[in-house]
Amino acid sequence: MASEDYQRARGTRDVLAPESWQFEALRRIALTWAMRFGYDLIETPIFEKSPVFLKVGEFTDIVQHESYRFIDAGGDDLTLRPEGTAAVARAYIQNGLAQAPQPVRLCYVGPMFRRENPQAGRYRQHTQFGAELYGSESPLADAEVMLLAVQVVDAAGLRNPTVRVNSIGCEVCRPRYREALIQYFESKREGLCKDCQVRLTQNPLRLLDCKVDTDIKAGAPDVADYWCDDCRAHIDGVMETVHDAGVEIRRDRNLVRGLDYYTRTVFEVGHPSLGDGVALFGGGRYDGLTARMGGASVPAVGFGMGLERLLSALPEPLKDEQPQRLYVAHLPGFEDKAYGLAMTLRRRGMAADADILSRSLKAQLKDAGRRAGWVLIVGGTEWENNAVAVRNLAKGTQEVVTLDQLFQYLDHELREADL
Ligand SMILES: [Zn+2]
Ligand SMILES: [Zn+2]
Repeated sequence: MASEDYQRARGTRDVLAPESWQFEALRRIALTWAMRFGYDLIETPIFEKSPVFLKVGEFTDIVQHESYRFIDAGGDDLTLRPEGTAAVARAYIQNGLAQAPQPVRLCYVGPMFRRENPQAGRYRQHTQFGAELYGSESPLADAEVMLLAVQVVDAAGLRNPTVRVNSIGCEVCRPRYREALIQYFESKREGLCKDCQVRLTQNPLRLLDCKVDTDIKAGAPDVADYWCDDCRAHIDGVMETVHDAGVEIRRDRNLVRGLDYYTRTVFEVGHPSLGDGVALFGGGRYDGLTARMGGASVPAVGFGMGLERLLSALPEPLKDEQPQRLYVAHLPGFEDKAYGLAMTLRRRGMAADADILSRSLKAQLKDAGRRAGWVLIVGGTEWENNAVAVRNLAKGTQEVVTLDQLFQYLDHELREADL
């Protein structure tokens, strides 16, 4: 019996093949599209000094209840990153990217940590792909990150995803809206859920997020009635650009997003198959973030996409990117030669297995049937004549191929099989 000590930590999981390979394929799709859009890959540490996440999300639930915060043996106050944006902002400032030619386009992919309730089917470590675009106030910047996000989802196989968008205003117009919201919700205070009574004094916009008080929030003032001219022109520009790129986008007046450093644009990406108003992930504009972290004030917009969530939402599993495998079997006494040939095939860019359990040819062929598309048989008269028997397991055909011709032959066969 395995001891409790050697079980996975609560809320974590192991990812085995083929899902692990599907996951890798998804990472590749995301990074390929990010590259096409001109984003550079950045890797930040998975833990940061706690203020990086604390200060920018002061009143968010994530930091209050769900962070992995610890004091290490040296007395440093550290937090496992719960999201990517704050860490990338810290890196942008610290590496002097604000002084580089703008815009700066960055993307990342890696694990994030939140102490979520495991009952909800969520994991405490999940993987996020995200993109952050610094140095542009233009609506084109907001549209660009949305289009990148949508493109990745589409390329993964969830075709024609849709965007819901809102603007939560700027420092000019948001204070008036905030006042109006507080006034409205104060008048309904009695009927509000417990969480919202707390939010009301800290972050009243988040009341629009509440899944409980739906009747009350239906009567709340609409931020659109408070937008300044610049904010109105901005969201119009974003929606027009995304729409013109052939992506369905509509405004959702209750969309505010959880993180409190957003300015103007907030958006969520969904899909008709998930139901109306259900988000796969989201993002937004956060022009005030770098200044809050002690850097220059730089406009920025981005998103973070949970890859596990996207994988589970796909209508069919991602195509396994595994190459066609070759199995180099051997007659008795030719074990080393077979292994040597497998090694040469690998160096030629092919995926090759060989027996390492000293099995009989019959047992090797059975093994090959489980893991390969072709079997090469090393030994016998063929080998004496510098040749091997090559068996196509799918077709059940066999040919003798000389070693000079072998790579060319396999290359051709493998290409045919991939079509
Ligand atoms: Zn405004
Ligand atoms: Zn509520």
